[in-house]
Parts: sequence; structure tokens; C-alpha cells
Amino acid sequence: MASEPAIHRYPGKQEGAFVNAYLVETESGVIAIDSLLTVSESRALRAALEELGKPLHAVLLTHSHPDHYGGLTELVAGDDVPIIAPQGVIDTIARDDDEKEQILRPMFGDEWAAERTFPNTPIHDGDSVSFDNVTFTVIDLGPSESPHDSPWILGQDERVVFLGDQIYDHKHCFLADGFHQQWLDNIEMLRARFPSDAVFHIGHGGPASPASWDWQRRYIETFLEAVLAADWSSPQQAHASVVAEMKRFLPTDELQFLMELSIEPVARQLGLTSVAA
Ligand SMILES: [Zn+2]
Repeated sequence: MASEPAIHRYPGKQEGAFVNAYLVETESGVIAIDSLLTVSESRALRAALEELGKPLHAVLLTHSHPDHYGGLTELVAGDDVPIIAPQGVIDTIARDDDEKEQILRPMFGDEWAAERTFPNTPIHDGDSVSFDNVTFTVIDLGPSESPHDSPWILGQDERVVFLGDQIYDHKHCFLADGFHQQWLDNIEMLRARFPSDAVFHIGHGGPASPASWDWQRRYIETFLEAVLAADWSSPQQAHASVVAEMKRFLPTDELQFLMELSIEPVARQLGLTSVAA
């Protein structure tokens, strides 16, 4: 029986996009869950890893979004380690990275890595990897919050889960990829799977508990209702009315920009407007 792994969350101080990565420390090494968005945050994550004084065994990715893979180059820092994700996550990152470069370079400048590192080791749904008898099992969700998502379960009793962005836990959410129906379906599948005392280590904020499934479902449904109810004869007013409705539902600015980035894409998807954002 191995001793319990220690779970460290980074960055220590949460701000900006509130992105989390995790270092799971086992007896002989460290397994990273995701990287961070910016070069300097990911460099600090690498420094934290080196402070633990153990080698990096692997990186596990929870989904295909750039705020979670963009810092891989700094995190692995030339180490020859597997970066593990389902093939669908690997393919999505390779497919969308040029487009993410176009969006993120103007926003972040040199803080968006000039050279990105992609996952290099595919894994099938339900398969596990083990380090010092600490087991990580992947769930290949397919499209959900991003075009391809892959939470990881730590251990055999399914009580600790690296959930990625399936729950945002009272921050505004990104819905622009348009897979809200699959996301809602996955919420019910995941809700049924994990025990009521499960701990969810999530991609922004947290940790969360299964009590947050209801909130996450209501957030998505409230957003869809707000987009549908808006008067799209005036796209600007429609945008403002969705923002006002979502701020009524969740009176915080945290990650509001992700929600605002989602309004026009979802309106187009629902056939409400053909106007470009
Ligand atoms: Zn994220």
C-alpha cells in the first residue's frame, strides 16, 4: 500500500483567468495535471516542481483548451516525459492551435508561449496509468466544455477527480465551442458516477463538490435562455441584455470575459443572428 499522494495546486495566488494546474506528489516523483496559460505562471509552476525535489513522471491533460496546454513547454522544460490525453484531445489541440495563436497572441503578447508543446501519448477511455501504485484513470468525454475533454480519476475509490472545466464553481463560463448539450448530458453522467463526498479539483477556482452539478446545469440553462430571450435585431443590445441577465444570476466579474466571448457564437449556433462578433 503506497502512502497517500499529496496534491498541490498552482498558482498559489488566484487571479486573472484563475487557471489551475496541479502537481501530484508520489513517493518517487511528480505527476502534473495540466499546465497554465502564461509563460511566467508556467515557469513558476516548473520552479515549484523543482522545489519538490522529485522528477516529473508525466503530465495528464484534462481538455483541449489553450489555458491548460499553453504552458506545457515551460512545465516540461525539455524533460522526456509522456504528456497523456485521449487521441481526440491530442487531435483537437493540433487542429486548433493556429487559431488559438491568432486569438491569444494579441491578448497576451510574449506571455503566450512562442513554442507550444502538444500531448504526445494517447490513452483510451477507462485506461489507467500508475506511478508508485498511485493510479490515474481517464474518462474520454468527447465534446463537452471544450471540443474534447478528459477528466482524470485519482485512486480506485473514485473520490478524488481532476475534473477540468466540467464545473466552474461560481465563476462565469466559456460556452463558445457550442457543445452545451453534450456538456449538460455529461453533467448527468458524471453526477451519477461519483459518490456524494467526492472532491473535484477543477480548472478554475475550487475545489468543488457534487453539490455544484446543479449550479453548473443552471448556469448553462440560464445562459441559453438569456441568449434566446435577447432581441437580436440589435446585436449590441442583445449582448448587453445577456450580460445583465448573467450578472443577475452570478454577480461577479470573475471570468466574465469568457462568458462574453460565448454570446455571439451561441446566438449564431442557435440561428438567432448571422452577424459576426
Ligand atoms: Zn479553462
